Amino acid sequence: MQPRDLSAHAVYAAGRGSEEVARELGLDPERIVKLSSNENPFGPSPAAVEAIREAAGSIHTYPKSVHTDLVARIADRWDVTSPQVWLANGGDGALDYLSRAFLDPGDGVLVSEPGFAYYAMTARYHHGEVRTYALEKSDGFAQTPETVLDSYDGERIVYLTSPHNPTGTEADLAAIERIADETGEDTLVVVDEAYGEFSETPSALALVEGREGWDARDDVAVLRTFSKAYGLAGIRLGYALVPDEWAEAYTRVNTPFAASSLACRAGLAALDDREHVERTTETVEWSREYMHAELDAHTYPSAGNFVLVDVEDASAVAEAAKREGVVVRDCSSFGLPECVRVTCGTRESTERAVSVLNEVTG
Ligand code: PMP
Repeated sequence: MQPRDLSAHAVYAAGRGSEEVARELGLDPERIVKLSSNENPFGPSPAAVEAIREAAGSIHTYPKSVHTDLVARIADRWDVTSPQVWLANGGDGALDYLSRAFLDPGDGVLVSEPGFAYYAMTARYHHGEVRTYALEKSDGFAQTPETVLDSYDGERIVYLTSPHNPTGTEADLAAIERIADETGEDTLVVVDEAYGEFSETPSALALVEGREGWDARDDVAVLRTFSKAYGLAGIRLGYALVPDEWAEAYTRVNTPFAASSLACRAGLAALDDREHVERTTETVEWSREYMHAELDAHTYPSAGNFVLVDVEDASAVAEAAKREGVVVRDCSSFGLPECVRVTCGTRESTERAVSVLNEVTG
């Protein structure tokens, strides 16, 4: 007995933790500046940590009621109904729900290259066929309708990422509307806004709901996560916001209790901790500007909590920076062997990263 042939499946290039890197280098983990996974440099909201502590005594019960509370709270935040919130085990889990709900075996899925690896992975897990559209370095990785539509060939799901990982570019609402119009009503356009809190661009939820002068539509869904601005990557909490018309499908695709009760408690507390999110987004803005101004290498404008940087040899630069205790993402795994991606850190860690990167690229 063997699992089905998974050899064509991409493997998630997860970043390594500070402890692992520290062990390898024989350094104190406190001295490692880890800017490779777009995590929150301030850690979790203290209110979320306290909420988890308080909830720990009731983890012998299933999370149904707290799950319902969190869904209602998220629905309230976006002014949608509860069934439009597909709560999941991280944004990745919400992508799985969308795949389950929409893909039949052999259906096409169109993803950007470079782009976030999990779109292709969830497509393959659900027996879809992955095809790509190219974001060109020479165009600054611009996400125009043409970049997508020139490659579109009747796929069932089209993924847009705004802000885009790893390039930092955005898709504006007019571009998304045009893509959704031209791909037609049998194609779902998923707009991944995992980094949405760091951007000034309004959420594509306006297209789903028909707000701010846009026509409402039932072929766009939006992805959000607690992993970035809310600092809860380890608790695994994310969700899709979906059109009212097909919201009921959630009950047929969700893994029962996929978001744990501790995750739900943390999410509720984090949503109320506006101060933590504001401190994070303000510092990210500062850090992006600092990197653009102070890095000697060419940087790309970014709407996310990271900056893409041109280097000659990404693996050599990432390795040299790591030896100095600064961990950045070698973008070879994204098909960009001449770029590294640097997460926006605190003032101190950003300054240290910039100084080390200037040294190793100089
Ligand atoms: N979308 C994008 C573009 C991401 O970069 C990530 C995580 N790095 C996710 C979705 C998923 O995040 P999570 O599963 O932690 O919510």
